Amino acid sequence: MFYDDYSRRLGFVMRVMSCRRSEKDGRILARRFGCNKEGHCLSIRGKFGSVRKPRTSTREGCKAMIHVKYDRSSKWVITKFVKEHNHPLVVSPREARQTLDEKDKRIQELTVELRNKKRLCAAYKEQLDSFAKIVEEHSNRIAKKVENVVNNLKEFEPIELELLQSKQGPLF
Ligand SMILES: [Zn+2]
Repeated sequence: MFYDDYSRRLGFVMRVMSCRRSEKDGRILARRFGCNKEGHCLSIRGKFGSVRKPRTSTREGCKAMIHVKYDRSSKWVITKFVKEHNHPLVVSPREARQTLDEKDKRIQELTVELRNKKRLCAAYKEQLDSFAKIVEEHSNRIAKKVENVVNNLKEFEPIELELLQSKQGPLF
């Protein structure tokens, strides 16, 4: 995080060049960060002494780097640091402004925003709940009406039967 921040402030793009992990538990034991204009992509994965193609581009071959190692005393130790870059450093205004303080401020702003959103969410939920209650009351009322209609129809049934019988004439 430090080197990433440093790279932004200084005006280069950080790149993870290598990462050594413990064979036992996969914990990171050492890491090498460099400048993205380091450039010799093919050789990075190999061990030292691999063949590096000399290139003419000025973009490449920057030696700036930092190497950190997890020490036996359980501390991260910087074992190597190359400060110089072989190319001009360009700080973009946006990156330069975004210092750690600004990031903290942004996190604070986002936290406040999140809190407001949560409050809004709770209010929406409340509205939704009361709406659901209204819908339930409505459907209850409709169910009651349907029941009334059905009952009314039942009341007509004997009358209908009577009418039918009177049409067929007296049974006796
Ligand atoms: Zn560089």
